[in-house]
Amino acid sequence: MLTAEDTIRALNDGRITLFFQPQISLFGQAIVGAEALVRLIDENGDIITPERFIPVIEKHHITQVLLSKIVEELCVNAPAILRKFGGLTLSINLSTLDLNRLTLPEEITEKLIQANIDTSQICIEVTESQQMQYDVVTLDILTRLRLKGFQLAIDDFGTGSSVIDHLRKVPFTELKIDRSFVKKILTCQRSQHLLTDMINMAHNQNMHVVVEGVEDQETYELVRAMDADIVQGYYFARPMPVEELLVWNMAESVT
Ligand code: C2E
Ligand code: MG
Ligand code: MG
Repeated sequence: MLTAEDTIRALNDGRITLFFQPQISLFGQAIVGAEALVRLIDENGDIITPERFIPVIEKHHITQVLLSKIVEELCVNAPAILRKFGGLTLSINLSTLDLNRLTLPEEITEKLIQANIDTSQICIEVTESQQMQYDVVTLDILTRLRLKGFQLAIDDFGTGSSVIDHLRKVPFTELKIDRSFVKKILTCQRSQHLLTDMINMAHNQNMHVVVEGVEDQETYELVRAMDADIVQGYYFARPMPVEELLVWNMAESVT
């Protein structure tokens, strides 16, 4: 874990960057989205993944600062990506703490408008976790984000508390199955059945399903047969800097 000092210094110095991981449609095998995943660059120039600094940022209640940097970075990167890949959706991740701030929809929207980016091309991912409280404020924020045109994903599905109830209350457009769950489907038939049920449930709610953590062809074939919509995982691509994404070619990605 990074120290608070190192983390805050990196934020202040602008040593925050986004990696992008392609999302592949199971219909037609084309790139339909990319998830922006934050990386911190330490003083030696090494790339640090989020599990080593997001908890520090949350503990010190500075997720607003992080989000603001991420949206600014997205505004810099998105135009070239959207030019290159047409009707792609770019996803960003929120911390659950961001969902306590009523001004959040305006914070994000204003920056995007200034950068001429259509909110309908941005998907906001909200994690399904124990801490996630679907209280009045959170529901208000999520509903207003959707009204502003954003897509809304429920991330890490299959890890937290039961969210069936929340699915009724929030107009989510996407369900993302967590990779810890996906890992089990090749060897555990019960997990396979559960995944099929989740996919059917999501489709009945007019959500599409992104399966994360697809690392091999066998898993890919299996989730395809299960009628999922989109896959994201090392089988196709790891998260990569924007320069790599801009020259990324699906045909060359699967060995
Ligand atoms: P997430 O949003 O569920 O992102 C997916 C994570 O799974 C990413 O880890 C990605 O690199 C990893 N992954 C994707 N495909 C595979 C695979 O096939 N195999 C394996 N083993 N891993 C795979 P990453 O980038 O380390 O991010 C971890 C978590 O940190 C994210 O999980 C998200 O919850 C959080 N995070 C990332 N970026 C941000 C951000 O900008 N803001 C906030 N608040 N949280 C972020
Ligand atoms: Mg995510
Ligand atoms: Mg996830």
